[in-house]
Amino acid sequence: MHVDDLTTPALLVDAAALEANLADMAALLPGPRLRPHVKAHKTTELARRQAAHGHTGFTCATVREVEGMAAAGLGADLLLANEVLDARRLGAVVGSGARVTVAIDSEQTLRAAVDGGVREVLVDVNVGLPRCGIAPARAGALADAARAAGLVVRGVMGYEGHLQMLDDAAERARLTTECTDRLLAAHADVGGEVVSGGGTGTHAMNTACTEIQAGSYALMDTAYTAAGLPFRQALTVLSTVVSTTAPDGDMPGWAVADAGLKAFGMDHGNPTVPGGNVWFCSDEHLVFAADAPPRTGDRVRIVPAHVDPTVALHERMHLVDGDEVLETWAVDLRGW
Ligand code: PLP
Ligand code: MN
Repeated sequence: MHVDDLTTPALLVDAAALEANLADMAALLPGPRLRPHVKAHKTTELARRQAAHGHTGFTCATVREVEGMAAAGLGADLLLANEVLDARRLGAVVGSGARVTVAIDSEQTLRAAVDGGVREVLVDVNVGLPRCGIAPARAGALADAARAAGLVVRGVMGYEGHLQMLDDAAERARLTTECTDRLLAAHADVGGEVVSGGGTGTHAMNTACTEIQAGSYALMDTAYTAAGLPFRQALTVLSTVVSTTAPDGDMPGWAVADAGLKAFGMDHGNPTVPGGNVWFCSDEHLVFAADAPPRTGDRVRIVPAHVDPTVALHERMHLVDGDEVLETWAVDLRGW
């Protein structure tokens, strides 16, 4: 199939860029040193490629992702790096033969794991991002309570999400060490063999963790590229120019592509049109000016600023080599 035959907007994944990203990361963090986060792509076929590069344990953000990974035969070691108050669906996944570990940061989430039939947990530690995670000083007591309740405590996790996009890499590294020091202090009280954390932005500097939870590295986005990450931009949104307006006096010309707020996660800013200047997005429109003005009917490949929420808006992604569509993958881990 040719990309011109795709209905736009359509998610494209450059096959060579994806493969290079997976290979580069696997060289740096081989096998179990990386626990790829599937929330960044929500696609079991892409996870299968990561498994082919040697990573057989995965990180998930939702119960639905855990279910979908297990159903796809990728359930050897799934970590739900998130808190749940109803773990019954996770217990059902355990019952189907997959290995599931869930994060806990409170008596309530501990109880949910027990009641839901999940047997293995990590104590989620607050390392500085004001989100989930128990205070480091209280982690040991939660681990004791979990063991007393019959759970296996595999170790700790802590996510330094507030640092991932810091422009200054030296500062990012310094602050990451502060975070991992908190995590290691908690680990000393909790025990277990797992110290899990990190992301694409800190994958090379978070050396204290036994495993890194990076996800965005596979497809990438402009925000991570701007932060200096060494991975290639594999993801674009193919769109069609549906209207153009020629320059008129002082008013420059512009073009309108058929991919707007409903095709891009926008919390990291506007998407980027190569060779163009994006003015704004509305629901189904992206308005841009370009040095070489496009014509109505032209197709443009637009680069998202934030990979995860962009992918989650699309039902499928197309693996391409130039203008050739090699494969089409369902974004099958969407929804809750
Ligand atoms: N771990 C957790 C718990 C996360 O929430 C995230 C992303 O938000 C990550 C790891 C890392 O993801 P990324 O590689 O996309 O930065
Ligand atoms: Mn993200």
